[in-house]
Amino acid sequence: MKKFVSAVMLLSLLISLFPSIVGAAEAPKLYLNGKLLQNAAEPKIVGASTLVPIRTVTEGLGFDVAWEKPNVTISNGETNMVLTVGDKSAVVNDQEVSLDAPALITVGSTMVPIRFVSEQFGLSVYWDKLTRSVHLYKESPVTDPPVTTPNPGEGSETPDTGNGSEQPVNPPATTSSLLNSIEYNGLGSIYLSYEGDFKDVKTEVLHSPERVVIDLPYMNFNAASFTPGFTQANSSSKVGEIVVDSHPTLQKIRYSYYSDKPDTVRVVLDLVAPTNVQTVKEGQSIRIDVLEQTGPPPEVVVPPVGPKIYKVVLDAGHGAHDPGALAVNGRKEKDYNLAITLKVKALLDKESKIKPYLTRSDDTFVELDDRADYANKLGADLFISFHANKTGSATVSGSETYYSRGDSITFANIIHRYLVAGTGFKDRKVRQADFRVIKKTTMPAILLEAGYLSNSGDTSVLFNDAKQDKIAAEIVAGIKEYLKLS
Ligand SMILES: [Zn+2]
Repeated sequence: MKKFVSAVMLLSLLISLFPSIVGAAEAPKLYLNGKLLQNAAEPKIVGASTLVPIRTVTEGLGFDVAWEKPNVTISNGETNMVLTVGDKSAVVNDQEVSLDAPALITVGSTMVPIRFVSEQFGLSVYWDKLTRSVHLYKESPVTDPPVTTPNPGEGSETPDTGNGSEQPVNPPATTSSLLNSIEYNGLGSIYLSYEGDFKDVKTEVLHSPERVVIDLPYMNFNAASFTPGFTQANSSSKVGEIVVDSHPTLQKIRYSYYSDKPDTVRVVLDLVAPTNVQTVKEGQSIRIDVLEQTGPPPEVVVPPVGPKIYKVVLDAGHGAHDPGALAVNGRKEKDYNLAITLKVKALLDKESKIKPYLTRSDDTFVELDDRADYANKLGADLFISFHANKTGSATVSGSETYYSRGDSITFANIIHRYLVAGTGFKDRKVRQADFRVIKKTTMPAILLEAGYLSNSGDTSVLFNDAKQDKIAAEIVAGIKEYLKLS
């Protein structure tokens, strides 16, 4: 029962620690005692669990693993765990333990849930959101009292339940040392003064932005007397910083109470360029020396100072099962729309200050809303939808240009002039209509009804390759006039 209770608690902890990363693209990194574990395959996040290849467990953590399909037995001599592929329960030291998700799954290689396995084997696990990494700490057997030895001083804090078996397994009691102060000497050295026994400093260099992360496990702030104090402090987070203005690369020293499993103080050095950093332990003090710069400052991304590149969305109306108007010659509107769109695109491709984007580039169907969404998400500067019209009368002929909102009138007026010049048809004027693609788009947007496919004259022009070239050239000239590029 004891193991069951603790597993449920661990799972809820696991879920609360991994809230927002599901589906994230980048694989997390896995560290043991601050050292990156090289994996056969990268860890994967599935649901609320981080899964690692089973080889990581054998090679990285030094556990024995025995495969007997569909079971995997993991053992370190004391604890014996049996996981079954696809099964939501595991057996730990002959006790069944339930998990929310299958204990073992196959995603390329066979993967095990690292937090569950690690904690069952007495490792501390925590997740670093900033660096997307999972840190495992194997506690030193020298300083840690055995888990099974009761601590005589703790009687009043841990009520005796009689059989003593209902409490979750506590992590090994470890005395954390206390950090009294962090001080920058103005010459490139940072002094950390502490009391108590302290051994390990874990240093990691990170880039983009350039920084060095120094973790001090089994250390907490001496909250009562710590200097220079905190900018933000509550029971779970103590955060502060020292701004440095006298160093060529060091800009800021940030410190925080980073983890309580185990107590860990994190010191982050914000740098403007890669810089050697060394830590030296002397007496009850840790000195961090920020040494010489080792590389050029990271390339600063300068926003382009050249002329703006205009994004123009070309929307070929209809497509696939939606043919649009049927022409008197048996052709379909969707084919004219695509042909003229591709010709306009080809011409815009030659313009250095305009980049065309298409909602469709072949005979596929795109929903109206998706066409508008595409342009909006792109942050397009202009939107043109290409169509041809149809009516019951074979004599109606001419070009029309539609806008929906007032911000599109100027664009409509200019393009319409060029459209009529291109088709040579009767000018049927610029008109207002709330067609969905020009209403839902958020940039100047127009819809061209180039001619009437119910009219044989218009139809023969619109399906003529050379005439299409002329119409496309005129529309491009209109776009350039509107953008003041001509
Ligand atoms: Zn149409």
